[in-house]
Amino acid sequence: KTPVPSDINIAKAQQPKPIASLLKEINLLPNEVDLFGKYKAKVSLSVLERLANKKNGRYIVVAGITPTPLGEGKSTTTIGLTQALGAHLKKNVYACVRQPSQGPTFGIKGGAAGGGYSQVIPMEEFNLHLTGDIHAITAANNLLAAAIDARVLHEGTSTDVQMFDRLCPKSKAGVRTFAPVMFTRLRKLGIDKTNPEDLTAEERSKFVRLDIDPSTITWRRVLDTNDRFLRQVQVGQGELEKQFTRETGFDIAVASEIMAILALTNDLPDMRRRLGAMVVATSRSGEPVTADDIGASGALMVLMKDAIRPNLMQTLEGTPVFVHAGPFANIAHGNSSIIADRIALKSVGADGYVVTEAGFGADIGMEKFFNIKCRSSGLQPNCVVLVATARALKMHGGGPEVVAGKPLPAAYTEENIDLVVKGCSNLAKQISNARLFGVPVVVAINHFATDSNAELEAIREQALKAGAFDAVICHHWAKGGAGATLLAEAVVRATEQPSNFKLLYDVKLPIEEKIAKIATDIYGAAGIELSEKAKTQIALYKKQGFNDLPICMAKTHLSLSHDPTVKGAPTGFTLPIREVRASVGAGFLYPLVGAMPTMPGLPTRPAFFEIDLDLTTGEVIGLS
Ligand code: ADP
Repeated sequence: KTPVPSDINIAKAQQPKPIASLLKEINLLPNEVDLFGKYKAKVSLSVLERLANKKNGRYIVVAGITPTPLGEGKSTTTIGLTQALGAHLKKNVYACVRQPSQGPTFGIKGGAAGGGYSQVIPMEEFNLHLTGDIHAITAANNLLAAAIDARVLHEGTSTDVQMFDRLCPKSKAGVRTFAPVMFTRLRKLGIDKTNPEDLTAEERSKFVRLDIDPSTITWRRVLDTNDRFLRQVQVGQGELEKQFTRETGFDIAVASEIMAILALTNDLPDMRRRLGAMVVATSRSGEPVTADDIGASGALMVLMKDAIRPNLMQTLEGTPVFVHAGPFANIAHGNSSIIADRIALKSVGADGYVVTEAGFGADIGMEKFFNIKCRSSGLQPNCVVLVATARALKMHGGGPEVVAGKPLPAAYTEENIDLVVKGCSNLAKQISNARLFGVPVVVAINHFATDSNAELEAIREQALKAGAFDAVICHHWAKGGAGATLLAEAVVRATEQPSNFKLLYDVKLPIEEKIAKIATDIYGAAGIELSEKAKTQIALYKKQGFNDLPICMAKTHLSLSHDPTVKGAPTGFTLPIREVRASVGAGFLYPLVGAMPTMPGLPTRPAFFEIDLDLTTGEVIGLS
């Protein structure tokens, strides 16, 4: 047998088709796209209007068992399944995946274009700048950060009259006007006046002073580099800002709330509303201060106007892929964009298929896909594909730890049916989690070269016993779409089943009850324990009118419980909630179950050590 070449060598060996040919095949009109080089295009939202009367295709979400350091291959399976449906079963199909952050690409994880013969190409464009969406988010996020600190400084060094004079300066003709964004603030203050001169002194004072309490500013700066030294910084060291020095920090760009908004937005007006609603701080009187109050939401919208359009690429076998948005999977919901899914579902038509991926294990990515993403879009999923591997299940069954850089322990490369079967407790729990939402589950058993047939058959048997609609051994990593045709056929059959999709909870339930429902029903906890801080925050959100938001749990992805070392399917534990934070613009509350780093660091031997430019060919080398 010839060994499977490296991901980048496979990707490089395949010449992508020119994007214009792909566009013809998938019936997008020339005026609906802007080409970005030879192999990428940005697709316009006007497609949704043109196809408004068409029925949606079938909607498939790929999720996984609880991740282990051994890797499960969710992205690889998303692409392999799409290749099988499109290039082999000849169905209309799109994959919709997340755009990776450059932090991990140069840091620990490497790229995220899938693997083996199931990849998005060109993979270096996919993994690097793409079409600049993350740069747009960085610009928008940091404009808002700059605006907040500047506003605090201006208010702190000016009288009411001076502030008013600068916020509404007299034109040459001696006329003062409000900027359009100011009307949102005036409405919030209950002031129904259109001429600044008509404000009373008291109204003027309320209008000019957001009165931000600097210690409550939650909006941080971002950049798309794993720069741990920026996790905590002091801003305002210059001579003129010294009075306003404060502690803050940087997050990785994809942790910005603006990324979560990009992923959850349904259309332009919805994005504008969400950007304006982002809460960045609290005023001294306890009122939430928003991006609208800061006056920045219009400018943010302008910075995001191209990012809102999905990016079209292709798989190794020439089927279309939308790459759009990539929010963090812990403090946000870890799913690609609603807009890409909606355009894809209309484009493939009633007989077509859209395969999208939910990050992390099904307890996190899939639960949020349903309760947050589908709640926001109103789309109905038809099938869950749950990816499992024999080696990862062995770890859930009690297999030894894996140490980076050391050879894999024999337990993972030699047959051990007992460990596999024990580990299926995790698979069974994740299957029942998916079934709680009324959606049929197909288990994709991602074959690794060292797996034995008996191990794979054991997984199949356990999956069916746990209530999966089907379970299929697949070889798409080694064989591309041809290795996943059986999986694709099973998925087609599953989507023909009646789906009784239902959400897990009503958003109107009290915040504590929603958290408890996820903890008990999905994780297997006996209950939750709220810290005093979490209780105070919950009380504040209720008072501020934010009770009715869905919940986005920030929990470790490495266990169904809060303890990353506990594998399998634990029960009876109490889930501690340390804190509850709000992403009001994105539209969710996120309880913190553990410490959630929002700025990764670089390891001693980062991925970028391997990366270089071949100076003779101009090609990128060493991306993995
Ligand atoms: P996930 O989406 O679950 O994080 P990926 O699909 O990104 O996982 O795969 C992680 C890594 O594992 C990739 O480098 C991919 O090439 C590799 N991989 C996936 N499936 C297989 C397989 N069946 N055999 C060998 N390597 C695989």
